Amino acid sequence: MKTNDELFKNVISHAKEYGFVFPSSEIYDGLSAVYDYGQLGAELKNNIKTYWWKAMVQLNENIVGIDSAIFMHPKIWKASGHVDGFNDPMIDNKDSKKRYRADQLIEDKIARYEKDGKTDKAAKLQADLDAALNSDDLGRLKSIIEEHEIACPVSGTKNWTEVRQFNLMFSTQMGAMADGSEEVYLRPETAQGIFVNFLNVQKTGRMKIPFGIAQIGKAFRNEVIARQFIMRMREFEQMEMQFFVRPGTELEWYNQWKETRLKWHLALKPNPSKYRYHDHVKLAHYANAAVDIEYEFPFGFKEVEGIHSRTDFDLSQHQTFSGKKLQYFDPEINQNYVPYVIETSIGLDRMFLTILCNAYEEEDLSTDEKQDSRSVLHLHPALAPIKAAVFPLTKKDGLPEKAREVMDLLKIDYNIIYEEKDAIGKRYRRQDAIGTPICITVDHQSLQDDTVTIRHRDSMEQERVAIKDLEKLLDGIVGWKPLLQSLL
Ligand code: ATP
Repeated sequence: MKTNDELFKNVISHAKEYGFVFPSSEIYDGLSAVYDYGQLGAELKNNIKTYWWKAMVQLNENIVGIDSAIFMHPKIWKASGHVDGFNDPMIDNKDSKKRYRADQLIEDKIARYEKDGKTDKAAKLQADLDAALNSDDLGRLKSIIEEHEIACPVSGTKNWTEVRQFNLMFSTQMGAMADGSEEVYLRPETAQGIFVNFLNVQKTGRMKIPFGIAQIGKAFRNEVIARQFIMRMREFEQMEMQFFVRPGTELEWYNQWKETRLKWHLALKPNPSKYRYHDHVKLAHYANAAVDIEYEFPFGFKEVEGIHSRTDFDLSQHQTFSGKKLQYFDPEINQNYVPYVIETSIGLDRMFLTILCNAYEEEDLSTDEKQDSRSVLHLHPALAPIKAAVFPLTKKDGLPEKAREVMDLLKIDYNIIYEEKDAIGKRYRRQDAIGTPICITVDHQSLQDDTVTIRHRDSMEQERVAIKDLEKLLDGIVGWKPLLQSLL
């Protein structure tokens, strides 16, 4: 039996070996917490985006999607609170020169106390940490680290600097050199692009409250420490939706979105016990309800998506800072108001990791006669990067030509791969490892009666079907319809 650590390492190396995720700039020894998606990773990522977009925009008449710019007016980040408040407390070890998040060092200590059965000590330390974080007391964080004799994992010493606040936004200069240039930020979230376009979309789309605006796009955060592969990156993608509602109705909508979003995750048929809600007890000052949807990664339950009831905080702030009215006239109650907002915010890369961890299996296929195993990705067929592989049984007798015909029939609608190298068993295994739901083999009988063998990834069962029925069969297995229907 593999430990969770080993399992996670295997997921990471599988992702690299099969072209899903590569470290960025690898030939230059990589760039910390930045990753590139390879040929299969890009496909899987696109499919996750499509699934989200279709579930949000296509299935909801009152949700539309936008694509706002990464650069925005710098005042936006003042209004949103990011310039003053988007900070992590950091601390450096003077001997190793390594930088840590002070709160995470303490959290690691809590985890160690818990592991050692010192639950009282862990609870007391958690309470102290919460109090220090809530009051932004950096001196207290330092004294906690000293009291609990927390040492640097690298140097082993307790030679720490003071704790300082570190703003997570990346900034750069826009425009020509020197005087004329202005400091702008790379957006740390996509949501503000939605808020500042609220009126543009509402007016041009003639949207009536309640309605939502969805967006998928890059976000950048200069995370103090980045760990756990694509879990915490410095450049990542978010899929966010802001749902604008009449004040007073927000908690009803919040509960509805909480349910709808979990349903979206579970429709992919993961192990349901790996998902849970984590309700926030301590709320941000502007929120009146908040929950995380968490997934149990090999390193524990972690947030994949956040659902927040944000009141009218964001639009009101932009009203104040821009001096422009951001209100809605509600004809049903004959009133103007600043709408309240429910936000659903999911990290695309974190969702990608959730899917990989959930799909990856090292399956033991040994029988009494022989030892055997396979690595398989049990991806939902609609998300699989390659929908089907077409194999001629051999490279001669006209089988490749017939297989190409089958491929041409299917490739208009789906991403299909053609392979003729190696024994058929080996070809099956390669497709299992990248999650291809179906393999189609063209053999000598195909030339006689226009049928082929279909082999299913998960059950490994085979059946004979007519070539003319292939399109319909594929639609039923790998098409979007069955998945989207399960959301209705
Ligand atoms: P965390 O507590 O894990 O840092 P957060 O609460 O700061 O996350 P949000 O600001 O709510 O995260 O962002 C919404 C979503 O964006 C998160 O649920 C997560 O999936 C994703 N996300 C946030 N930061 C990162 C990151 N550095 N790398 C990858 N995904 C991220």
